[in-house]
Amino acid sequence: MKLVDEFRDVELAKRLVVHIHQSSHRNIKLMEFCGSHTVSILKNGIRQLLPPNIEMLSGPGCPVCVTSTTDLDKVIALSRIQGSIITSFGDMIRVPGSHSTLQKEKAWGADIRIIYSVLDALKISRENPEKKVIFVGIGFETTAPTVAAALVQAEKENLHNFFVISLHKICPPIMRTILELGEIRINGIICPGHVSTIIGSYPYQFIPSDYGIACVISGFEPIDILQSVDMLVSQIENEKHSVEIAYRRVVKPEGNIQALRTMETVFELSDADWRGIGIVSRSGLKIQKRYQHFDAESNFDIKTIPNNEISGCICGNILRGISTPTDCSLFRTICTPEQPVGPCMVSSEGSCAAYFQYGVNIE
Ligand code: SF4
Repeated sequence: MKLVDEFRDVELAKRLVVHIHQSSHRNIKLMEFCGSHTVSILKNGIRQLLPPNIEMLSGPGCPVCVTSTTDLDKVIALSRIQGSIITSFGDMIRVPGSHSTLQKEKAWGADIRIIYSVLDALKISRENPEKKVIFVGIGFETTAPTVAAALVQAEKENLHNFFVISLHKICPPIMRTILELGEIRINGIICPGHVSTIIGSYPYQFIPSDYGIACVISGFEPIDILQSVDMLVSQIENEKHSVEIAYRRVVKPEGNIQALRTMETVFELSDADWRGIGIVSRSGLKIQKRYQHFDAESNFDIKTIPNNEISGCICGNILRGISTPTDCSLFRTICTPEQPVGPCMVSSEGSCAAYFQYGVNIE
């Protein structure tokens, strides 16, 4: 508890806020690329504590939100295969595909189970040898190593009825894509904390080198975020852009070598489809040939009907940082956490859900 309390210390927060106000003179835009950061920033009222010349934007950091409708349609098609059990994290169940949701498919008789870890999916496959157990693999570098370890374990156990649809994505390529799109002029990036525990700080080096943009890897407590903003302001004001680690209690520059090795044993880079952005080269992880017998996309004939995007939902623009939830005409009226229209309202890490819950006076 002591450790957490230190990072919520009100007096320290006040000192950091005063320092940011004193040292920040330019108009700057900072973007976070992690859904947990988005939630923490809004929950702790960080935006309101900052001077008006600092604007904070949210990028494509929520794994449920960035999963494309096309990919979701594939999962829904898999749920309709006779004898299949879909195992998925809870938020995915309610995200609308083109014509259905996993929740509706479950109501219509599909066997869809909410799990909390890929290990639960392995257990279900051991207990149901006559069924095809398919795990919906979403998430970034944080979750991919655990899924890779599960596939290694399934191989050891010779499990023939365990499959993964790998919709995993990786962060640095989408950061480059957002910067290349040039729709917003970003001066600094709050780099994702959890992802960085796996990949370290080196993969972000292209951001200051190629784009002259400041980077700080941040933790998730209020002091972590304020300290990161303070460090970003210092880099920007002094025009000395680099990748700094504010989350030193967890992140090492080289990352987690063991987790990276496990991930590289099972996955390889592939193109991936991002909601609101489209196909981004080498930004996803697909299952390598050696483990192809576990790959749901290689082992099942997945039939989807043409993609139908959600009418009126601007999640794509929100994920690119060019709109905020309050720009959406459906926000709070038709789209609410109880009746979500798009994924950014479904997911607990989505911007719309976070604005709904914490963002009463944020505009
Ligand atoms: Fe989509 Fe709802 Fe967010 Fe609008 S408020 S962008 S409909 S999720």
